[in-house]
Amino acid sequence: MVRGLAILGSTGSIGTNVLEVVDRLPGRFRVVALAAGSNLPALAAQIGKYRPDLVSVKKRSDLEKLRRLSRKFGTRLVHGPDGPLEVARAEGADIVVSAITGVDGLGPTLEAVRAGRRVALANKESMVVGGPFLRREARRCGAVILPVDSEHSGIFQCLARERRKYVRRVILTASGGPFFRTSLKELKDKTLAEALRHPRWVMGKKVTVDSATMMNKGLELIEARWLFDIEPGKLDVLVHPQSAVHSLVEMTDGSVLAQLSATDMRIPIQYALTWPERADTSLPLLDLGRLGRLEFHEVDPRRYPMFGMARHALERGASFPVALNAANEAAVEAFLRKRIAFRDLPAVVGEVMDAHRETPVDSIAAIHEIDREARRLARRSLKQR
Ligand code: MG
Repeated sequence: MVRGLAILGSTGSIGTNVLEVVDRLPGRFRVVALAAGSNLPALAAQIGKYRPDLVSVKKRSDLEKLRRLSRKFGTRLVHGPDGPLEVARAEGADIVVSAITGVDGLGPTLEAVRAGRRVALANKESMVVGGPFLRREARRCGAVILPVDSEHSGIFQCLARERRKYVRRVILTASGGPFFRTSLKELKDKTLAEALRHPRWVMGKKVTVDSATMMNKGLELIEARWLFDIEPGKLDVLVHPQSAVHSLVEMTDGSVLAQLSATDMRIPIQYALTWPERADTSLPLLDLGRLGRLEFHEVDPRRYPMFGMARHALERGASFPVALNAANEAAVEAFLRKRIAFRDLPAVVGEVMDAHRETPVDSIAAIHEIDREARRLARRSLKQR
């Protein structure tokens, strides 16, 4: 059976890897809808190759540039903030890959869930800020949310045959990012270029900076809390520089289950697309003999102060993860524009979190309001730098 695929964020790092997986499994998927940001040359190439029914672009002015191509292939073009929502509920899409970066992914992810689709979730921020909503709506609408992130795919695979009551602890691994072995003194002066040089994974810029601060792992903990309905006290992280073990699950009897694979994001992406089947492709295999050893370290809170902030937000719950994510998005954006230094990242997010007052999260509108307020606090903090 050919399955219809819609991709939110098709020209990003996840999106392009999804399409590579599609290419490696000919005849299994048909790309029916794509939503992209501003990388028009890449999007045009995707339209020519996959001939989707529907494509969403950011700006009205982008439509003209794709007009000729879309006529040729019968592709309907949409634009603006509602574009990704149309892609999320596109007719004929059995699977929706949610890979827009940041809180902007929440609306389209929710839309895909409400359309009852299988949602391959790479946008961790939507689970961080709206986890309880997404869970509830998925149950109501018969949607299945499957993880794309390697750590969560690992947990999902470890838990597949286990009863939840036997789970004692879930441990996500972290590579430690580019500064795991940097001295604390030198850490303060790290540049954007150095932060973007990840030792194991090639990913988008936002998530790569988040890996350097380990905010990424903090967000992943909160994502795991809602994806798998695991209490915060049972969630843990270990630094594992080889990135071969993606997650571990400790059971009540002391057994520890682990999921391992080569460090290649196409592996968890493919599993989210083919589940419950596993496809035989020529994706890289894990060669433990060559790897030689697997190391594990506790997280050093002095090296990764932002991980501590995320952990705190996880434990407080309610509006804290929403404020944390917004403050982090604002700070990382400023860092990517070279407006602030690496050491300012924890300072900005820390200030916002200190000023944040708990607010009930009883609607999607409330999430957006908390997000706006935290960004306002972040801007105030950024101005002082
Ligand atoms: Mg990850």
